[in-house]
Amino acid sequence: MAYEKELDVAIEAALKASQLCETVRADIPDSIEKEDRSPVTIADFGSQAIICRALGEAFPNDPIVGEEDATALRSSEQSEQLVQVTQYVQQQLPSVSTDDITEWIDYGNGEPADRFWTLDPIDGTKGFLRGDQYAIALALIEQGKVKVGILACPALALELAPPFNEQGLLFVAVRGEGTRVRPIAKEEFNTVSVAAATDEANLRFVESVEAAHGDQTLQNQIAKKVGIQSDSLRMDSQAKYGAVAAGSAALYLRLPSPNQPNYRENIWDHAAGTIVVEEAGGRTSDMYGKPLDFSAGKKLFQNRGVVVSNGSIHERTLAVLGEVT
Ligand code: AMP
Ligand code: MG
Repeated sequence: MAYEKELDVAIEAALKASQLCETVRADIPDSIEKEDRSPVTIADFGSQAIICRALGEAFPNDPIVGEEDATALRSSEQSEQLVQVTQYVQQQLPSVSTDDITEWIDYGNGEPADRFWTLDPIDGTKGFLRGDQYAIALALIEQGKVKVGILACPALALELAPPFNEQGLLFVAVRGEGTRVRPIAKEEFNTVSVAAATDEANLRFVESVEAAHGDQTLQNQIAKKVGIQSDSLRMDSQAKYGAVAAGSAALYLRLPSPNQPNYRENIWDHAAGTIVVEEAGGRTSDMYGKPLDFSAGKKLFQNRGVVVSNGSIHERTLAVLGEVT
């Protein structure tokens, strides 16, 4: 198999990061104030530190374009938070120090290059805090093309055959070699593929929980016109890509919010998810049918909106979008 070392290192790191995130989440007190984002901050930093350490040691020439940097964590007001991050990381990697932590987090502050990794240490932070879906998303990009994607979804349970109907799934995709999924808790991988749209009445469509991250009115209008009868399933994070890859949903729409028409998507919010869907037999594009362009910097500057499907309804969806927008 291609990218064997990359997979070994990235999978182990993503599993450790996922354990850290679940441990932090289990420790969130019931009485937490709604505005208190400290658990997500701790888990975000901890997850980024674990993954950057693993990739940095194994592939010292690869930059990592991650979401976080440690500037805030280094300030004296945040020293207590740094101690907490360190304690959680120590549960996964016993001998680390606070200096290691800030250094590793900042290693994830790289720039796109010929070959680099994208990292979202917790995608769907709002879902993480709400007790819903979130993902740890990691992808390897070479010459602007996503070659490997690792998507850990610690809270996702899909209606796949046993043993995959348990909660916590890890998706792994390699370009040209398909997408595999395993329960986070078991080492056994299975291949996944999108469901063919044979039973039109049962097609499902996914979108963000957060209304501000898209145009839910338009998304629902498009889905109805495409022929999807049921209401959307709302899900945080790139877990939505996992749902399409595994055939649990036929379509994922993310159209620009009318309140932020110039929003550009971050590459780390889509790199892992797109390869997971494509290698499972699905299709991804922007709302005009253009392939997502991961060579344009830290954002998808060449694209607007994101359309993800099982492949068979992709053209139909783009046609409906063309008529309506
Ligand atoms: P989701 O859980 O699918 O809603 O996606 C979460 C991601 O949405 C976060 O990681 C943010 O980077 C991203 N995001 C923030 N604001 C917007 C926006 N206006 N439109 C689209 N995505 C956004
Ligand atoms: Mg994100």
